[in-house]
Amino acid sequence: MSASNQCRRCLLQEMTDENDYYQSVVRYRAALPAKKRTPDAAYAARLAFCKACDALNAGTCMQCGCYVEMRAARLDMHCPKEGQW
Ligand code: SF4
Repeated sequence: MSASNQCRRCLLQEMTDENDYYQSVVRYRAALPAKKRTPDAAYAARLAFCKACDALNAGTCMQCGCYVEMRAARLDMHCPKEGQW
């Protein structure tokens, strides 16, 4: 991603992304077995927490280093900050 399209408080889905990282997230999520995939409503709620979090930096969580949309996609993964998701 070039510096010009980085947005500190944005998710990958909100940024111009010549490397298609967000499409990788979409494919990853679609490939997860249903029992491992965070349901849509819970996924949206997780990402809403991230959007309001100081640790979000251009789609990446500065607490764990993950793309938040990737981490939130798995039901068994959790936010590294206690009490978020
Ligand atoms: S600390 Fe939690 S809520 Fe904040 S960006 Fe990371 S995963 Fe999201």
